[in-house]
Amino acid sequence: MRVNVSSHDLKVSDHKHHLHPFTDHGALGVDERRVISRADGVWIWDSEGNRMLDGMAGLWCVNVGHGRQEIVEAVRAQMSELSYYNTFFKTTHPPVIELSEMIAEIAPEHMNMVFYGGSGSDANDTVFRLVRYYWDLMGKPDKKMILSRHNAYHGSTVAGASLGGMGGMHGQGNLPVPGIHHIAQPYWFGEGMQTGMSEDEFGLWAARELERAIDEIGEDKIAAFIAEPIQGAGGVIIPPATYWPEVARILKQRDILFVSDEVICGFGRTGEWFGADTYGLKPDLMSIAKGLTSGYLPMGGVIVSDKIADVLHEKGGEFYHGYTYSGHPAACAAAIANLAIMKRENLVERVRDQIGPYFRKKWLELGDHPMVGEARMKGLVGALELVPDKADLSKRFGDVGKVGTIARDHSFNSGLVMRAVRDSLIISPPLVITEEETDQLVASARQALDLAWADVRKQGLA
Ligand SMILES: *Cc1c(COP(=O)(O)O)cnc(C)c1O
Repeated sequence: MRVNVSSHDLKVSDHKHHLHPFTDHGALGVDERRVISRADGVWIWDSEGNRMLDGMAGLWCVNVGHGRQEIVEAVRAQMSELSYYNTFFKTTHPPVIELSEMIAEIAPEHMNMVFYGGSGSDANDTVFRLVRYYWDLMGKPDKKMILSRHNAYHGSTVAGASLGGMGGMHGQGNLPVPGIHHIAQPYWFGEGMQTGMSEDEFGLWAARELERAIDEIGEDKIAAFIAEPIQGAGGVIIPPATYWPEVARILKQRDILFVSDEVICGFGRTGEWFGADTYGLKPDLMSIAKGLTSGYLPMGGVIVSDKIADVLHEKGGEFYHGYTYSGHPAACAAAIANLAIMKRENLVERVRDQIGPYFRKKWLELGDHPMVGEARMKGLVGALELVPDKADLSKRFGDVGKVGTIARDHSFNSGLVMRAVRDSLIISPPLVITEEETDQLVASARQALDLAWADVRKQGLA
């Protein structure tokens, strides 16, 4: 790779040749982009030498922190032994076998097989096809409809974006594809408190929307319900305490599959190995990616329950589905080394018992800020809802997203990477963050809130 290229030259070249994901290119000036050139632990550096705390763990994925040489070495060793072979047509290889065994061990009791891909999006494409194939094998080909939720995020491929409930994404390219129905999300601060229901009542109501949809469409037409235990990209929506127990009750009575999209919640984020463990859910399938490799190499997959695996075994026949890089050896090596670190350093228990509760306490203190309407956190994922008038929590900023962006920019300039969703700020730090780094993070967040609040009032936005 080239060395000693100036920061400016990098930006000019990036501007000319690199089409960025989820970016408004009309609004992205040459100098507005940041070139991230190095990372270590919870810290990242840009090409101008600025150090920032990576409060988003990359994109919710760098669970074991940046720069773990143990993973680098494991990948190097695997690449020199067997850099690639496929897993189609009756072949396999040692790293994919070892990884599958490791995942089966940490997954819930009743889930023991793994299908691999390269991302969370294609994991959900696999889900889309597998749930329908399952019902075909079961002799119920009419069960094809998949239920999801508004404001869900399930990826950016055609099936992923369709399963997701993002209006903006659906607006581009005539999505969703047919056969998907979206129901209410359990978003108390955004949609619940305005109804006059209590938080618990709203949680029950949102859960029973699933029951209503099943009755309306017909259980004999529905293949599956897919949901994130905590919605991530939708704004870190932690459901009311009543929501998941009620959904679990409904799922127990109905003959439809349940898919837990664990792409963010999986691998320790919520203080258990999976979000389904945190909420006592029994999924038939779980989509995984992100924390599986901590982002060291791209990898995703679907963890399959015995119920589905048994049907695939018993009924036989080929499932015409797979990716060239399904179970890529180097990605497997990265995942194995990543999971080994998580186990050895007890990162899941650490989130549940130590750094999670510590972080949460400090984070919730930000709730006293004049611009914060709600601070929430579960495990190591959280959000701050920004409001114009703390005395009246039903009020929102006029131009949705503008204040969130202002606050996000102040956060960056205060040395902390947070992300804005509408007018909220969200956080999802590496699971290895220390108490001292947590204090630094929260101090930077408070500074960003102060600066943003001053800005917002100066501009007459509140
Ligand atoms: C990020 C994400 C995806 C998509 O994963 P990619 O690796 O970006 O394709 C799917 N589901 C959830 C819940 C996610 O957060």
